[in-house]
Amino acid sequence: MTNNRRNPSVAVIGAGMTGILMAIRLREAGISDITILEKADRVGGTWRENTYPGVACDVPAHMYTYSFRGNPEWSHRFAHGDEIQAYMEQVAGEYGVTGQVRFNESLDRCHYRDGKWHLVTSKGNTLVVDFVVAATGILHHPAYPDIPGLETYRGEMFHTARWNHDVGLAGKRVGIIGTGSTATQVIAEISKSVGHLTVFQRTPQWVCSVPDRTYSEADKARLRGNQKLMGKLSERYAFFFRHVFTAAVTGNRLAHAYVNWTTRRNLRKSVRDPALRAKLTPDYKVGCKRLVFSSTFYQAMQRENVYLETTGIQRVSERGVVTTDGTEHELDVLILATGFKPFNFMRPMDLSGRDGLSIDAAWADKVQAYRSVCIPGFPNFFLMLGPNTPIGNYSVIAMSEVQANYVLKLIDHWRQGRLATVEATGEARARFNAYLRAGMGKTVWVGGCQSWYLDQDGDPAMWPYSWEQWVKELEEPELDDFLQEAPVRKSPAELEPAEKAA
Ligand code: NAP
Repeated sequence: MTNNRRNPSVAVIGAGMTGILMAIRLREAGISDITILEKADRVGGTWRENTYPGVACDVPAHMYTYSFRGNPEWSHRFAHGDEIQAYMEQVAGEYGVTGQVRFNESLDRCHYRDGKWHLVTSKGNTLVVDFVVAATGILHHPAYPDIPGLETYRGEMFHTARWNHDVGLAGKRVGIIGTGSTATQVIAEISKSVGHLTVFQRTPQWVCSVPDRTYSEADKARLRGNQKLMGKLSERYAFFFRHVFTAAVTGNRLAHAYVNWTTRRNLRKSVRDPALRAKLTPDYKVGCKRLVFSSTFYQAMQRENVYLETTGIQRVSERGVVTTDGTEHELDVLILATGFKPFNFMRPMDLSGRDGLSIDAAWADKVQAYRSVCIPGFPNFFLMLGPNTPIGNYSVIAMSEVQANYVLKLIDHWRQGRLATVEATGEARARFNAYLRAGMGKTVWVGGCQSWYLDQDGDPAMWPYSWEQWVKELEEPELDDFLQEAPVRKSPAELEPAEKAA
């Protein structure tokens, strides 16, 4: 590295999977002035927050690892939440990230002024930095259902992302609203011990069965110290997921036909009772909502103590859930597996870019970004896992590694003086969005179903092309897509007479 590069100060917001990654990558690039703010008392992000029974990652564990730090110790093909949390903590510790994190300190205000970002934290501390990386996650803000009477319920009630472990479920009458990826994992686990479980399903899900397996001591021993072998294993899974699941949702007919066949077959083979099977059969295309991966959900739904309620919810009463047919389902515990607000991103932070442009104003028409990371009007600001990042049923770690490399290259252009500030132009973002729109038509997400993938206009905030295309798109920054000079806003006193007249 040459010594005449500028050494920027960088604030990383969040110490979850992407925050840890960014901190590691920034340090590798020789950037030492890094501040990491984390609102909680531990690293881990989503894996710290989601502790519900049955929590696991439905992307194979060896594929859901940092490419530079495989983990020979995974106990199962699909790692459990606590193992992933332990892995995140271990990597953060090994790479010296943990010691750099300012825990229990969130970012309240983040304003761009005079070429710098001015930050105010929840502890009242102030910081002035060159760059901000928002590593604040996508599925982070729980969505509570808008059901009349929810607040009147007298039993125990909590969202899956805020699981109350003080509430025992054994032998109780439990209700769960939702049948997404989270609910299916919860149902498979708690149905073993609750007295009675009522599953309130608004829309059935397509469920794909990829069998889990445990890794033996011999399996682990083979991998220990062999990063190359772990890399190979990871790539094998990734290859399969790319060419089957990602391809299936982004227009590859053969892949879609296969996934369609295997999910329908799974339902047919797993659920014997035709009435129950009919209730569990979606009426939309396979993959339109995120595919659920589970080899235990259908089995759980057939337990004697589990009842699938498909009549709509009218309201919540003091005692339980009232369905539109007037039935009151009395419950001791009500679990809300109702998902997240994926478009909230770095909220509730008070964030404003150049000329006081607030993020709400910038996104008033649409939540959008250039190449998923840069927001015009927000110089030297990067959003990890931003809009149009998600790739159907693929590893978010892999996606964010590609973004991290891209961000590092952009920062390097700034360090070398090729970019005065790193700010994508509005035209570049418009071009990028047109490119995204052109690809959406052939995806299954526009197949007429409702899902968290869709924004307020019904447009999927997903990546509509292949994985390879994602890598290519974020390989090298195109400098023409960035402002070449930071626009300078002069105070009235500084304006030339001609400028004043204009
Ligand atoms: P979700 O997929 O958004 O599912 C929310 C569920 O709640 C849906 O069944 C929805 O029904 C239902 N719902 C919401 N509001 C309702 C209401 N007012 N009345 C009745 N039902 C209502 O949320 P999620 O299951 O938490 O999963 C979100 C995402 O997290 C997943 O798609 C996945 O990307 C990620 N995740 C990943 C894993 C993993 O293993 N990697 C595990 C869990 C979650 P409708 O379908 O009718 O809207």
